[in-house]
Amino acid sequence: MRGPILVVNAGSSSLKFSLFDAAGGTLSLREHGKLEATGEGMRIETRGQSVAKVEAQTLSTPFDHDRASAWLLSRYAGDATALGAVGHRVVHGGPDRAAPQRVDDALLDELERLVPLAPLHQPFNLAPIRALRQQAPALPQVACFDTAFHRTQSDVAQAYALPRALTGKGIRRYGFHGLSYEFIAARLAEVDAASAAGRVIALHLGNGASLCAMKAGRSEATSMGFTALDGLPMGTRSGALDPGVVLHLQAGLGMTVPQVEHLLYHESGLLGVSGVSSDMRVLEASEEPDARFAIELFCYRIGREIGSAVAALGGVDALVFTAGIGENSPRIRARVCAAARWLGVELDVAANDAGAVVVSTPASRVKIYVIPTDEEKMIAQHTREVLAA
Ligand code: ADP
Repeated sequence: MRGPILVVNAGSSSLKFSLFDAAGGTLSLREHGKLEATGEGMRIETRGQSVAKVEAQTLSTPFDHDRASAWLLSRYAGDATALGAVGHRVVHGGPDRAAPQRVDDALLDELERLVPLAPLHQPFNLAPIRALRQQAPALPQVACFDTAFHRTQSDVAQAYALPRALTGKGIRRYGFHGLSYEFIAARLAEVDAASAAGRVIALHLGNGASLCAMKAGRSEATSMGFTALDGLPMGTRSGALDPGVVLHLQAGLGMTVPQVEHLLYHESGLLGVSGVSSDMRVLEASEEPDARFAIELFCYRIGREIGSAVAALGGVDALVFTAGIGENSPRIRARVCAAARWLGVELDVAANDAGAVVVSTPASRVKIYVIPTDEEKMIAQHTREVLAA
């Protein structure tokens, strides 16, 4: 492919992008940034590879995906280095899509039908794909799904114990953060091929948080299910909850569906429990007892989910920490490893504090790694591969 690859990750009121040069065999990040809605209009921020170089401007026109797409084309598709392709993060690929796919009308129709399964994300992921198809019909586009990596799971691992007819209506576990886990599986194979070939639990701990039980680099089980609400507590999301709580919030406490949705997605998790912040850095610095309790609950629940993942794998050979908290917080890693000590997990405290890649002691039965994830690079790689095929 000639020309760089633009990676787009679009939400309801913002669009994040990364531009990768794809010359030769390597992919290198040239620039990344964000377009977002503000009170004044559309704010645009771009950063070169060195974080110090930030350009920011605010256009008076409001943010929408058509305008954001037009701005991206004017910046990246208008000169001799014109774009080679665009790769998109798409949250939902449905029950069957196990790989990224080049965008055409049939795929767009299929992905549109999945909007009811992910109403808070899917429509906004699709909006810039449509806008770019209209504004630059010849530009190849590839959709990369957050669910795809988990399609290797058994039917049992993907099922809920609900009447089968509901499974047929799409009510099943899909799992998310798949692009992150795929990147981690590939990166771990470079760091330590033997660990990657074994039973690995990857912990993606960011604002969103989940874990994935992998065997030889393939997903066997994951903590998120039908939506990205399930599993671990997150910055503002509750994680797993007795469904009876949802019924009681509505039937007993009179909350409406939108109110419950807002509670579970935006007012729960670390924020809801601490009453202080959804941001782990703020909680770690806080003296508030509720902030400490939120951290304790977060780590306890990770420990419980690790146990579940070990059961799914029949044992564990390695743990991998990734995403904002997993990559940057030695304290959370230490607490999680303490909760997993019964598995033979032994943390090398000095290596953990120093931010090393391998943070287990030589005697630890389970290897422990800290590996930065890079979902954007994964999308760029997929985009290049899909178009080369
Ligand atoms: P997202 O899921 O939005 O991509 P990130 O992966 O960037 O989020 O993770 C954001 C989280 O990582 C926040 O809770 C933030 O406080 C946390 N984080 C980032 N750096 C640190 C740090 N040095 N110590 C503790 N937590 C950190």
